[in-house]
Amino acid sequence: MISKKLAKAINDQINAEMWSAYLYLSMSQDIYAKGYKGIAHWFKVQFLEEQAHAAIMINYMHSQDAKVILAPIAKVQTEWKSILAAFEDTLEHEKKVTAMINNLCDIADEDKDRAAANFLAWFIDEQVEEEENARDLVRQATMIGDHIGGMIMLDKELGAREYHTPSPLK
Ligand code: MG
Repeated sequence: MISKKLAKAINDQINAEMWSAYLYLSMSQDIYAKGYKGIAHWFKVQFLEEQAHAAIMINYMHSQDAKVILAPIAKVQTEWKSILAAFEDTLEHEKKVTAMINNLCDIADEDKDRAAANFLAWFIDEQVEEEENARDLVRQATMIGDHIGGMIMLDKELGAREYHTPSPLK
């Protein structure tokens, strides 16, 4: 049985995942407006993934007979000075999410809640991937700099990203 403390923390994390979704959708809109449809698409997939993360947590709350209480989603930034700035913010944001997931694991450990620890392990792995992807994009955008041709190539590459339903939802 899940503790009240952990149920509250996962409930908060559901809101944080929805905020992440909203942040990436906002980045997608700004980048679309800047003319990079492929990079905008990459962020749109990111938006779908974050909603999936919230759904995974909602399912877990249900399995523990814990009620999910949805809170308002705070407003997000709507403009970035460059593609690089959006990728840098993505990396910084994902580092914060990693710290939040680690905190959930700490609570599960305190509770000696093996089921929760096992459930959260998927998110630990997911954050390694999220940070690695964001770091790669920061690196690539830094190398490209003001070279428009390079950014157009990156736009093509990122436009091919496919959304895959995360394994816990399959
Ligand atoms: Mg997430």
